[in-house]
Amino acid sequence: MSPQRLLILAVLLYIAWRLIRNLIREKIETEAEKRQKKETDGSTVQDVLVEDPVCHTLIPKHQAIRLRHDGKDFYFCSDECCDKFTGKPGGSA
Ligand SMILES: [Zn+2]
Repeated sequence: MSPQRLLILAVLLYIAWRLIRNLIREKIETEAEKRQKKETDGSTVQDVLVEDPVCHTLIPKHQAIRLRHDGKDFYFCSDECCDKFTGKPGGSA
């Protein structure tokens, strides 16, 4: 094996090791999160998907931008969609 090949191999191994370490860390973190959610069982987390009326994307309710309009709640994926819905000028059209 040539020295260059060994170097490439070493770099690849290093990258692989970094990736594996990140994966392990993520797994540990998500498991810790799950445990936390179980502990706060009294207040159930609302993970409902809501539909953006402009682009029809489904967004988790807690992430969506809420707008109260005509006594109804609307949820948007972004400020852009919210602006489009309310008919605000600003978009290039
Ligand atoms: Zn949208």
